[in-house]
Amino acid sequence: MKALDELTFDNRFARLGDAFSTSVLPEPIAEPRLVVASDAAMALLDLDPTEAHSPVFAELFSGHKLWAEAEPRAMVYSGHQFGSYNPRLGDGRGLLLGEVRNDAGEYWDLHLKGAGQTPYSRMGDGRAVLRSSIREFLASEALHALGIASNRALCVIGSNTPVWRETQEHAAMLLRLAPSHVRFGHFEYFYYTRQPEQQKILAEHVLNHHFPECRDQPEPYLAMFRSIVERNAELIAHWQAYGFCHGVMNTDNMSILGITFDFGPFAFLDDFDARFVCNHSDDQGRYSYSNQVPIAHWNLSALAQALTPFISVEALRETLALFLPLYEAHYLDLMRRRLGLTHAEDADKALIEGLLQVMQQGAVDYTLFFRKLGDQPAEAALRVVRDDFVDLASFDRWSEDYLARIAREPGNSEKRRARMHAVNPLYILRNYLAQRAIEAAEAGDYSEVRRLHQVLCTPFDEQPGMEAYAERPPEWGKHLEISCSS
Ligand code: AMP
Ligand code: MG
Repeated sequence: MKALDELTFDNRFARLGDAFSTSVLPEPIAEPRLVVASDAAMALLDLDPTEAHSPVFAELFSGHKLWAEAEPRAMVYSGHQFGSYNPRLGDGRGLLLGEVRNDAGEYWDLHLKGAGQTPYSRMGDGRAVLRSSIREFLASEALHALGIASNRALCVIGSNTPVWRETQEHAAMLLRLAPSHVRFGHFEYFYYTRQPEQQKILAEHVLNHHFPECRDQPEPYLAMFRSIVERNAELIAHWQAYGFCHGVMNTDNMSILGITFDFGPFAFLDDFDARFVCNHSDDQGRYSYSNQVPIAHWNLSALAQALTPFISVEALRETLALFLPLYEAHYLDLMRRRLGLTHAEDADKALIEGLLQVMQQGAVDYTLFFRKLGDQPAEAALRVVRDDFVDLASFDRWSEDYLARIAREPGNSEKRRARMHAVNPLYILRNYLAQRAIEAAEAGDYSEVRRLHQVLCTPFDEQPGMEAYAERPPEWGKHLEISCSS
């Protein structure tokens, strides 16, 4: 276990030079204080968890102190936002402080969000508010605990620095970790600004450090693109299977590593609704829950366009065409597990689609449905969940199909319960739970954020005394309007 001053830095991205990022110092926030830290994320850096409570921890992650070996840089990128190309984005309020190599030899980007203005801030103040920093922290760690690839979050530091959004709020900083912060939009930037040499340097960097297994392939860049397609297919399958809505799937928010990244007004589904739009500012519903699949495909095609200097259009097209079948295979696999099915049958797809159709008409809690379905032997469980459905005739028909299907599965109902509970969480980051924790934190009480974080760290385990965190939202918590402002 290391102390904060014992981290080993090796800033590979910073060394790519000024064409890729700009040196900027963080702008401190006033009276920094620890809101919440993740022991598990600290462990990725081999950090002793007690370090979170040392005064220097809050100083380092609020811009007051810096390691001598850190080289804070704002990265340049562009991207397609809501379908339109924006030629210049970049880290407008975040800084890559440096890359830390842990004892296992893994590299972690230390990225400080809310660190002040940069050359890419455009009209923005360079800040992040406490509310959105807490949401991003909780979601990063909760997704990871669910087995969904995500950037990680080390801590949130609060402050007294006022910032203006719809009203006056307080600035915070979020320290997030990822093996890389390179986005689809990085490749788009060098493509559309016609900088082929720089684009090649970027591609080599990503290939060498993040896709080393592709180096030995006959066409390394094509193998890398294929891997990006595969990882995103797997990621989006997880989002859909677990009801996660990202909210702002612009290409600048898509990680080259296929991890969940740059959270906006995200949400987990409460009641199942395929048309759900979590971003209150998304009038057209471009990033609705069910659109996430075609949008991911669209985003990958935007990346493919940016890779045309390196890979033939035909090969790119063929590889892109793998996305939907790969997505579907992963999705069906995850949904089968959620239903307690251990082997595949041809009719499973229709069984899953049929379930979602009946769910859509009722007010069925997407998370609790699966949990309750595994709680008891199938017949008894179906009687319990039946109450939430509106179209009972259709649900009863589905139940019969499900019972017939489950009868062809091996093992007793105790085994079925264990395998279903291992994949069906009891606790998810519901908007209303986040909202309650945020309101307490805004009033200076961080205990609820910390408790909620703890609960979400083991989402599949029943946690005595925490039953309230597994409940469906109250009426006020169902229709929270989460906007883009953060
Ligand atoms: P986002 O919607 O958070 O992914 O941000 C899109 C772009 O706007 C990125 O380039 C961000 O760095 C930038 N941005 C968002 N909020 C701010 C802010 N408050 N100040 C400066 N830049 C920002
Ligand atoms: Mg972004």
